[in-house]
Amino acid sequence: MTSQAALMPPYPIPATRHRERLAAARDLVAERGLAALLVGVGADLRYLTGYDAMPLERLTMLVVPAAGPVTLVVPRLELAPARACSAAAAGLVEVTAWEETEDPVTLVGRLVRASLGSGAPAPIRVAVSDRLWASFLFRLQEVLPEARFGLGSTVLRELRIVKDADEIALLRAAAHAADRVVAAIARGRLIGRSEADVSREVRERLLAEGHERAEFAIVASGPNSASPHHEASARVIQAGEPIVLDIGGTLGGYGSDITRTLWVTGSEPVHAPYHEYLALFAILRAAQAEATHAVRPGVPAERIDAVAREIIAAGGHGLHFIHRTGHGIGLEAHEEPYLVAGNAEPLREGMAFSVEPGIYLEGLAGARIEDIVVCAASGPDILNEAPRDLLVVSGE
Ligand code: ZN
Ligand code: ZN
Ligand code: ZN
Repeated sequence: MTSQAALMPPYPIPATRHRERLAAARDLVAERGLAALLVGVGADLRYLTGYDAMPLERLTMLVVPAAGPVTLVVPRLELAPARACSAAAAGLVEVTAWEETEDPVTLVGRLVRASLGSGAPAPIRVAVSDRLWASFLFRLQEVLPEARFGLGSTVLRELRIVKDADEIALLRAAAHAADRVVAAIARGRLIGRSEADVSREVRERLLAEGHERAEFAIVASGPNSASPHHEASARVIQAGEPIVLDIGGTLGGYGSDITRTLWVTGSEPVHAPYHEYLALFAILRAAQAEATHAVRPGVPAERIDAVAREIIAAGGHGLHFIHRTGHGIGLEAHEEPYLVAGNAEPLREGMAFSVEPGIYLEGLAGARIEDIVVCAASGPDILNEAPRDLLVVSGE
């Protein structure tokens, strides 16, 4: 598949969604008593407008005031792509370009003040997107000395944490593409290849399956499988050892993230998975399945973590499950909600997250199983379809 195909997501987010999101954001800006929400380059901007802007030292900023028009401020040289984004093309935002000799921060300050009407500047509150560079924020503070600044996530997390049907369709397409890559790697040659070589193949296959970005391709073989975020290394894969394969990227802006554990046997029976490893994997398999099946609206996020942890602890491996059970996923690879002890936030219909318990015996071997799951009205909607059992493969 060419990069041309990769630019065309199977279900592009329609402008009607951006209309809904911008309206909802504006309602929240007014409700929270903010003068404006200022959104820099990143997932928040893409969420509201469809504009996947380049991160530059030149300011790009969406100005969402409590009242008045929404304005997208862009450097002159980015005017064409900005105008082509979904929200601009549909007339939902006004695009204003600044010339190289202008100060865009002053322009943003004027737009915020204009939305407030006349009179002397009174104390106001302004929210900025969480990922806005400090260099822009400090300048905004100079230009709007009457403003108290806060985090844009106070407005945007409420919106982004619940996925709409178009977002779920993209997450599902991304998950299925990643499923196919796992299947292809499991079918292929592994013995005698370096982890880095297999990792490169994973990335190529993710792109060939329509991902526009291959973000990570963890290939952790043998004792490396006991390190959850192992970087693919020069280690050569051998028969008679596990591989934790944790791969993902973005398709239409939305993330894939799947982990499957393989066991490479070669042709000799002596290299079949040993009893202790199978026992460990059986505990993990049960933990991942039960945690997934506990997903339904109203269940606290931390409960999903507890379900997995209780099963792994009962199997004697409580100390070897060394990370949270999952993270939200959407336009960002890790976002809210986090499935972790202490997060009592109830799951809601439309939340999307990973369920990925693991067991790690340092220096020996480890295993992890990860699916992306959407909380549906009736329970879990598991987006990945690749088999979750230990994938015993010849690797030859
Ligand atoms: Zn992962
Ligand atoms: Zn993950
Ligand atoms: Zn253990």
